[in-house]
Amino acid sequence: MNYYFPSNIRSVRPSIIREFSNKVKNFPDAIDLTLGQPDFPTPERVKRAAIDAIEKNHTGYTKNDGIEELRYQAAAYLKEHNHVTYDPEWEIMVTCGATEAVDVAFRTILSGGDEVMIPAPAYSGYEPLIRFCGAVPNYIDTSKNDFVLTPEMLEAAYTPYTRCLLLTYPNNPTGATLPREKMDPIVEWLEKHPDVAVISDEIYAPLTFTGEHVSIASYESMWERTILISGVSKAYSMTGWRIGFLCAPVKISDELYKVHQMEITCATSISQYAAYEALKSDKESIEMQQEYLKRSTYLYEELTRMGIEVSKPNGAFYVFPSIKKFGMNSFDFCMKLLDEKHIGTVPGSAFSHCGEGYVRISIASSMDKLEEFVNRFEDFIKQF
Ligand code: PLP
Repeated sequence: MNYYFPSNIRSVRPSIIREFSNKVKNFPDAIDLTLGQPDFPTPERVKRAAIDAIEKNHTGYTKNDGIEELRYQAAAYLKEHNHVTYDPEWEIMVTCGATEAVDVAFRTILSGGDEVMIPAPAYSGYEPLIRFCGAVPNYIDTSKNDFVLTPEMLEAAYTPYTRCLLLTYPNNPTGATLPREKMDPIVEWLEKHPDVAVISDEIYAPLTFTGEHVSIASYESMWERTILISGVSKAYSMTGWRIGFLCAPVKISDELYKVHQMEITCATSISQYAAYEALKSDKESIEMQQEYLKRSTYLYEELTRMGIEVSKPNGAFYVFPSIKKFGMNSFDFCMKLLDEKHIGTVPGSAFSHCGEGYVRISIASSMDKLEEFVNRFEDFIKQF
């Protein structure tokens, strides 16, 4: 039988991050700094809550938008960390990871031919989901401005097909944040463009090291048009539990709800009880954030000492140095680094064409491994 696959499915390439992560497994002594997978175990109290949920037979379908306790806890958490107010009855939905939240947001607002403005380098999970909707990403290159978005960049990128702006702060892969003085001009530009919707992926918000996290949804003029995405995967080391949050004013969330309901019915019941327990305290996430700060400072200082150009990350758990001076494209550079020194990193090109000339190093790995990375990397670059 001849299957016909639509071009927007055929044209999507499987994840380069996973491709590199799989290659690293061929080297038993490899230092694997590929995935955004925290190296901390899920907190003990959270695991206990999941076991408890099983024992209490909380194993059936839940409400489509999630268990009430978790939605209320998420509302309190978002108020404290993101300074945003959502009604847990109607404006917060529990999703299968932030990934499903992003997918539902795109499916709900995008039509064929729409454009999504994305400050880039950008997380590689977005583009395939945009293309599945028949829409296209419009990457805005921020690399020449220390990865900071400006209104001038938005003005240059805006077209009659622009449907929305997608923000990810703290950023994967660059670690950039958008503090208030830099967010204000973005908001002013958006106020002049009322037709542009905003999707704000704030999954790394609790892992902000420098200054305070600023959510675009906390601006009164932006709240109505913003879809906010959050979750427990990164800040609570719960990537495998698959719990995210999708938040928006009722007018938008009524539409989001239909897509989510038909797509997955509900997030896993047991994980929802675990996430409820997780959000009761931020003790562990503060400890992890402090550890990531220590690691990113160490790596930033070591790379700078080696003469490598690198921006200081302000959040998340990645360092994104430039490798332009070595005269190789990022894919070949990462392959050579893996073959010769058994170090797994991700080519910057995985994060759009704007990431070419960089590599992403995940610091969700122990200090011992990062020190070994520094030794091997310093040796590696002597050949250039
Ligand atoms: N958004 C960003 C910016 C990410 O980096 C990731 C994972 O790396 C996700 C969303 C996906 O999160 P989840 O594992 O909760 O689906």
